[in-house]
Amino acid sequence: MSKVQVIHTAEALHQFRQKLNENSQSLGFVPTMGALHNGHISLIKKSAEENDYTLISIFVNPKQFNNSEDLKQYPRTLEADLMLLEGLQHCVVFAPTEAELYPKNDGFVPMELGSIGRVLEGAFRPGHFEGVVHVVHNLFRLVDANQAYFGQKDFQQLAIIRLLTRYYGFKTRIIACPTIREASGLAMSSRNMRLNEKELQDALIIIETLRYVEAAKNQRSIEETIMAARTLFSTSDLALEYLAIVDPETLCELSEWQEKQICCIAAHCGSVRLIDNLLF
Ligand code: AMP
Repeated sequence: MSKVQVIHTAEALHQFRQKLNENSQSLGFVPTMGALHNGHISLIKKSAEENDYTLISIFVNPKQFNNSEDLKQYPRTLEADLMLLEGLQHCVVFAPTEAELYPKNDGFVPMELGSIGRVLEGAFRPGHFEGVVHVVHNLFRLVDANQAYFGQKDFQQLAIIRLLTRYYGFKTRIIACPTIREASGLAMSSRNMRLNEKELQDALIIIETLRYVEAAKNQRSIEETIMAARTLFSTSDLALEYLAIVDPETLCELSEWQEKQICCIAAHCGSVRLIDNLLF
């Protein structure tokens, strides 16, 4: 059994938060769906450096899954997660039930996401970001953190979280953290647990293609680059969902290179859906 403090209820979280307030101690917040890996740990360590306490939420949010099989297959490894957090000072876990996080009449009023919510993940996972907004709204209200840490691996999610923070008037500062990769280049993800040896190799086409696009910047047109990148990707066993070069602010597709752009990829590797991006 792990010795990490785990809070399960909104009431206990409220008490924990109040105690910090009484002692003028700051709180950093790292929301996760568990199956923790070094990507999550990098967020937790950054929060631990910058705050007196860090709260890590572990909750597989059913509202953000548009595919029931994906929800069923999502890894749930709470005991192993707690073991991984063992030894981290001033870290507390919040692992609520669905009923705790979504009480009846939770006062949530959906926001209009606009075009940023309709492209990329929004186009391929209808309802996904609406579910993300709902859970982050309820978590932010309960946790009342000084700062919250999110990975750039989920770049569009980060943009939407900045949007919702402004929209609902949360005081929490949003901190973006870089994508942590395996030595192979594969972006760390809880979903990687479901890849077999061959699929782990096959999945490297994602970072290979992203790096190819980066190297083509200003050498070829965006249109040519996308065509060549798709051809490269099609040599793999992965099924491409989208490959897009977009503006990092608006997430609108670009027809000309800019100083900064982000290339985003989503693809299926066997039964596992993977996303990654490169900002350059
Ligand atoms: P998840 O548990 O997948 O919902 O992710 C929880 C948080 O960890 C999100 O802010 C993700 O963007 C972040 N995250 C996931 N994978 C990585 C990674 N490889 N590097 C950095 N952050 C990550």
